[in-house]
Order: sequence, then C-alpha cells, then structure tokens
Amino acid sequence: MTTTLQTGCCIVGAGPAGMMLGFLLARSGVEVMVLEKHADFLRDFRGDTIHPSTLELMYELGILDEFLKRPHQEARELAGQVGNETVKIGDFTHLPTHCKFLAFMPQWDFLNFLVEQGKRYPGFQVTMQAEATDLLEENGRIVGVSAKTPNGPLKIRSALTIGADGRQSIVRERAGLQVLDLGAPMDVLWISRGPGGPSQSLGHVEAGKVFVMIDREDYWQCGFVIPKGAADEIRKRGIDQFREEVATLAPFLHDRVTELRDWNDVRLLTVKVDRLKQWFRPGLLCIGDAAHAMSPVGGVGINLAIQDAVAAANILATKLATGTLGERDLLAVQRRREFPTRATQRLQIAVQNRVIRRVLSSAQPLTLPWLLKLLGRWPFLRRIPARVIGIGFRAEHVQTPQVSVPRH
Ligand SMILES: Cc1cc2nc3c(=O)[nH]c(=O)nc-3n(C[C@H](O)[C@H](O)[C@H](O)COP(=O)(O)OP(=O)(O)OC[C@H]3O[C@@H](n4cnc5c(N)ncnc54)[C@H](O)[C@@H]3O)c2cc1C
Repeated sequence: MTTTLQTGCCIVGAGPAGMMLGFLLARSGVEVMVLEKHADFLRDFRGDTIHPSTLELMYELGILDEFLKRPHQEARELAGQVGNETVKIGDFTHLPTHCKFLAFMPQWDFLNFLVEQGKRYPGFQVTMQAEATDLLEENGRIVGVSAKTPNGPLKIRSALTIGADGRQSIVRERAGLQVLDLGAPMDVLWISRGPGGPSQSLGHVEAGKVFVMIDREDYWQCGFVIPKGAADEIRKRGIDQFREEVATLAPFLHDRVTELRDWNDVRLLTVKVDRLKQWFRPGLLCIGDAAHAMSPVGGVGINLAIQDAVAAANILATKLATGTLGERDLLAVQRRREFPTRATQRLQIAVQNRVIRRVLSSAQPLTLPWLLKLLGRWPFLRRIPARVIGIGFRAEHVQTPQVSVPRH
C-alpha cells in the first residue's frame, strides 16, 4: 500500500546541494524532507574538496570550529608539474576568508556533518533508501514525488520539489527540462594508493598524459586523465600495462601499483559538462549537478552545489514559510546562479580544449607554457587562480534567518 506524506519542501538527493538546502530551510522554520536512494553516504571518489567559500559559510552559520574538528587535510597552495619542472600555480593564503586553505574531507563525513546540523531543527527529516521514481503533477504543476522504499511505495506531496539528485537526475528528466550538453574531451580513472610521495598535491602533465595527485595524508588519491571514451581500450591492454603507466608517471607509487589488483580498484568518472536551459517548472527547481554537471577542472562541483543551495535558501525560505512562493522566485534562483555556472563552465571548457585536449593528443615533450612561467615567477599572480577556485564567481552568504529553535 502506498503511504502519502505531506511536507513544505521535498528535496530529492542528499548530496552537498540537497543536504545544505535541507539544513538551511529547516533552520529557517520550513518543514523539509530529504530523500536519498542509498542507505548511507559511504561512496568513494565523489569529490572531497571543501572550498574556502564553503568554509566561510560554515563560519557565518557558527559551525566552523565544530566542522574543523573532523579529520581533514588542508592545502594552502596548488602546484603543477610539466615534465620535470614544478611550479606553484595557486596561493590561498591571501583570500579574504577566515580559512585560507582548501580542505579535503571524505564526502561522507561532510554529509554526515550536515545531517547532524539539520537534525538539530524539528522541521528536518532525511529519509535514506528512498528513491524518487517519478514526479506528481496536477494541472501542469509539480506537487511532489513518488518514491520506492524498503517499506513500500511512498508519495510525498509538497509546496516545492527540489531536484538535487546529481548529474543523472531523474527529476530533471521526468520534468522534461532541456539539457544543453557542452561536451568534454576526457574521462578520469581514479585510484588511491598508500602514503609517502611528493611534498604536496599536484597535477603532473607530460606529452599525452595528465595525472593528478591529491595528498590525503595516509593515502594518495590520483586521477589518470584519459581521452573521452578510451577506458575500454585501456582496460583491454590489461591491468599490468596500466600499473606500469601509473608507475612511470608517479615513480613514488612504483612499489604500490601492485596493490591495484584488478579494474575494481580503478573507478571511471565519465566527465560531463552540461546545464539546464531552464532550471524550474511551477512547483519544481533543480540545483547542483542536476542543474549543471561540472567538469572536474578546478574541482569546483561541490562548491557550486553548495552555493546554489545557499542562494535557493536565501530567495525561497521566507516565501516557503509564508506560503507565498511563485514561479518568479524560482526564476530568481536561476538568474542568481546562472552567471557563476556559465562563467565557471566557460573557464573549464577553455582549459579542457586548450590544455587537456592538446596535452592528451601530443607526442612531443612539453615545455612550460608562458602562463605557468608567469605564475612561477610572480607569486602575487597565484592569488588569481586561488580566488577563482577557492571562492569562485558571485560568492553567496547566508541571509536566511534562524527562525527554528535548535534542539540541544
Ligand atoms: C569521481 C568524482 C570525483 C569528483 N571530484 C570532485 C572534487 O574533487 N571536487 C569537487 O568539488 N567536485 C568533485 N566532483 C563533483 C562533485 O562530486 C559534484 O559536483 C557534487 O557532489 C554535486 O553535488 P550535488 O549535491 O549536486 O549532487 P551529488 O553529489 O551527485 O548528489 C546527488 C545525490 O542524490 C542521490 N540520488 C540520485 N538519484 C536519486 C533518486 N532518484 N532518489 C533519491 N536520491 C537520489 C545520490 O545518491 C546522491 O547522494 C567529483 C565527482 C565525481 C563523480
């Protein structure tokens, strides 16, 4: 038998966008139900970068100190390596934020932290193992979702439905929202290996190869960038050959590549860059990856998802609480967030096409490009990439009031 529930805002997807929005709305007195299809957040390789702008939001919410007690690593600068030359390319230490670093924290810890914060407010509910399967529509308006759960089917009726269900969003598909595919020339094979190695995280580039190494203290998270669709061919060549290529690119991993037992230890990220033409329909709004899948260039996907959530809460919370929400408010969210999305994607596509595509198809030894030479020579210039990555375009600030009284 189908159970029917009613809430103020039903959010599909408990990723960074959905969890942050759920928390902020509940904090401002709106009844929220967040649906998550998985039983937990324990999925590896989802992106673990928490940007200075997100940390600033934590500060504004008064929860930064508590957040930083969770295990994390801090990166104050970014470096790139072309052939054997290493250059510093980003310096976060001059950012106008309380935290002048990028934090690496497993996404499940970050999401569990947001759940804990949300649960302090009586209107907050997160339901795990609830997979949205369709939208409820009445007279052209979305009035909720249907979902499947281990306890049977569920219908959740709500004044507003949010699609925060990521790049494979069922919500945007069922709503018939048009997707603009912007294309990407690459995919990424992610691996993680034991400790010890270079003194900092860096991106290594040489003819035909791009390899990203992120220092996670007790292990290395590495991204092997490959031409789009080349994963099958690489798999066909065999795991031994792949191990060898990794060891050649990162000799410090030489004794650890044998830990790559088979292809189950290598995760494929199919890179997608797209965005919705229109992010909403009456009664429905998409945010985060569901509205715009980002390229991994700059590692800004989580940041944009969080910024969307804050903007949506700022614009919609009071309207939802007072029952005055209209289509114009949903348009206001899209207008607010469309510029940062477009600007970031434009930059990512430029890097994908002018740098990554060229490097992947090059057979000649590479020399340090003039831009990297400039960044290497003039330290103050490194503040620019740090600002674009660490804060991004049009940073959001928490404007929602704390109406609901937290439980202690
Ligand atoms: C391998 C990989 C590496 C990445 N690395 C980085 C990085 O280093 N830095 C960075 O900033 N970004 C990175 N990203 C991108 C980043 O993870 C996303 O941009 C970000 O998580 C988007 O957040 P979101 O909340 O919009 O969507 P998601 O994080 O995708 O969350 C969507 C949630 O919705 C749930 N869901 C999906 N469908 C349904 C349904 N029908 N019903 C209920 N729940 C549903 C999913 O289980 C998921 O929990 C990476 C992505 C991948 C795949």
